[in-house]
Amino acid sequence: MALDEGGEAFVHKDSVADYFERYTTRIQAPVPCGVEVRRVSRLEGRTGFRFETTHGVYEAQSVVSVTGPFQVPVIPPVIPKQTAVQQIHSADYRSPDALPQGAVLVVGAGSSGVQIADELNIAGRKVYLSVGPHDRPPRRYRGRDFVWWLGVLGKWDMAAPAPGTDHVTIAVSGARGGETADFRRLAHDGLTLVGRTESCEDGVLRFAPDLIPNIARGDANLLSLLDEADAYVTANGLDLPEEPEARVFPNDPDCMTNPLTELNLSQAGVGTVIWATGYALDYNWLDVDVLDDTGKPRHQRGVSSVRGLYYVGLPWLSRRGSSFIWGVWHDVTHVADQIAIQSAYETYDAQAGGLGAAEE
Ligand SMILES: Cc1cc2nc3c(=O)[nH]c(=O)nc-3n(C[C@H](O)[C@H](O)[C@H](O)COP(=O)(O)OP(=O)(O)OC[C@H]3O[C@@H](n4cnc5c(N)ncnc54)[C@H](O)[C@@H]3O)c2cc1C
Repeated sequence: MALDEGGEAFVHKDSVADYFERYTTRIQAPVPCGVEVRRVSRLEGRTGFRFETTHGVYEAQSVVSVTGPFQVPVIPPVIPKQTAVQQIHSADYRSPDALPQGAVLVVGAGSSGVQIADELNIAGRKVYLSVGPHDRPPRRYRGRDFVWWLGVLGKWDMAAPAPGTDHVTIAVSGARGGETADFRRLAHDGLTLVGRTESCEDGVLRFAPDLIPNIARGDANLLSLLDEADAYVTANGLDLPEEPEARVFPNDPDCMTNPLTELNLSQAGVGTVIWATGYALDYNWLDVDVLDDTGKPRHQRGVSSVRGLYYVGLPWLSRRGSSFIWGVWHDVTHVADQIAIQSAYETYDAQAGGLGAAEE
């Protein structure tokens, strides 16, 4: 099923919602909205689960958890609550006008942080952007979007992140038709880059001395993708226009050559800190012993160790694409197969012909 916009358009959120509505009509599945699952537990002495919801109690033979990787916005406990500054998560950011007057510190330079900081800077705010480790793919290269490049280079299907890169965020922008995140350009436009926000004492923030290595790492990531793309073009004889300017970076701005190590929030007039620091999982509703010590589900390709309980949509469930709208279908197909296989075992009847006999 295709989206209305098609091509390489950046699809509006309302169109995505319409798309899902059309999909539910097509598969004719009941999709009750506004129903929260409060507790899922195993049935005693027989297979299946009992689940308590805001609309009643039900039983099911299988449960597929698709509650997503973005359940609880995470704000690290760095700035004490009593500090005279408003702290919000990027999930609650709406527009520059909705924030109190004053400068803004945006913590986190993934796609959310970098685009929010850019928007605030354009709106005339004084903005500090706290930059941690990140990947920085080119939005487009040689006429193709990076989503296409990740596809042909096999990166959506990577089975596991490179060692030590489990939680590295991607900084890329969909603004103005799509742009490569360019920290130096943002700084030349007036924004101040700082290292990772480490601590806060008496209203004074301290930044890690890692701004330069973090920017360098993002640059290296961008250049390596360009190298791989060029090699792919050559190896496959593609006729895509060369783009040497993609390798040219602006000069290092002053905030990179003389990075701030600390910031007195009130002296700098900072009225808001926006934490673009990601999300955590929340399985409080799952009363089944299937989580590891860190609260993450134990599973093999979406199949948990408890019969009948499955997951879809988790980061790196089977590949990089697993937690993206684009890419989840591999896991959906696998989990649906596993459910069918298990129900065939359940209806097993040796006399009548073995596995699958009940369906004939
Ligand atoms: C800022 C941001 C930008 C993104 N950009 C892109 C992008 O450009 N392209 C892309 O492909 N992906 C993007 N993603 C990822 C995309 O949003 C996810 O891949 C997609 O939403 C995952 O779908 P899901 O159904 O697995 O989970 P979700 O969309 O998170 O849906 C989970 C649902 O479960 C519900 N739920 C949770 N607990 C319960 C409960 N106990 N009872 C009942 N319901 C419950 C939640 O309310 C929610 O509706 C982005 C994500 C973020 C945060």
